[in-house]
Amino acid sequence: MTDGRALAIEYLKQQRLLGGNDVVVPTPDLRPGLENQTAQPTAIEVPTPGVSPGRTDTTVTTGASGMPNAGISFDPPSADLFATDPIQQARSLADVATLISACHRCRLCDARANTVPGEGPTTARLVVIGEGPGRTEDETGRPFVGRAGELLTKILEAIKLPREQVFICNVVKCRPPENRLPQYDEIAACLPFLYRQIEIVKPKVILAMGGTAAQTLLNTKQSLGALRNQVHRFRGTPVIVTYHPAALLRNPHWKRPTWDDVRIAARLLDA
Ligand code: URA
Repeated sequence: MTDGRALAIEYLKQQRLLGGNDVVVPTPDLRPGLENQTAQPTAIEVPTPGVSPGRTDTTVTTGASGMPNAGISFDPPSADLFATDPIQQARSLADVATLISACHRCRLCDARANTVPGEGPTTARLVVIGEGPGRTEDETGRPFVGRAGELLTKILEAIKLPREQVFICNVVKCRPPENRLPQYDEIAACLPFLYRQIEIVKPKVILAMGGTAAQTLLNTKQSLGALRNQVHRFRGTPVIVTYHPAALLRNPHWKRPTWDDVRIAARLLDA
């Protein structure tokens, strides 16, 4: 969406869902002789679902709208139109994937069979971000196609989102040996690709699955447990943090909280 007015309307709808406060718009005074003065601001109340209009509280509480409180807002600079960096110049997801396929920015390229740039349409409203490719992903060049991927597909189906309509990717685009955690410098080397993918897709909501995705995207060291159950923002786009599907395979007790998180993402998508 490029139309500024449409973006503003969407932002206000999300704010309403999140229990936002009234929006105050200064209106010019149009009475003869007073054209250049600004009249008293007009308060346009953005009602919070479940809360009666005219309320006096300004505290956003979990429960009133069924939405969690606002969390971290991380706003790294966007691509510079005049930059000479080829990643910033990439105009499409395919351009980004081509750059990734030739990437030697870190040691992860040494043992890879394939790069795994991510897949899904440019028009996706949801971007799902995992940690890094595993064995099956490395073999196929596709994200989330192993057991964890099957579970992710089911999770998306549960909110009536066919996998094909979602852009699915990882923080690092090459498999870390033995599926170890990606290291800090590997993440730093790969991050410009993820940033550009998000910029190109312009999703309505981002779902960060697992600690690596959440901490990387929000530029924080807070634990997954601390980051869950809040609506964070990455360059203004809502970010929901939840467990990684591989963790759910190891610990089925986390399925319920994951479902809660994913439903929040679905409500933001529908807002
Ligand atoms: N785990 C991830 O984080 N990403 C994948 O693509 C597969 C498993």
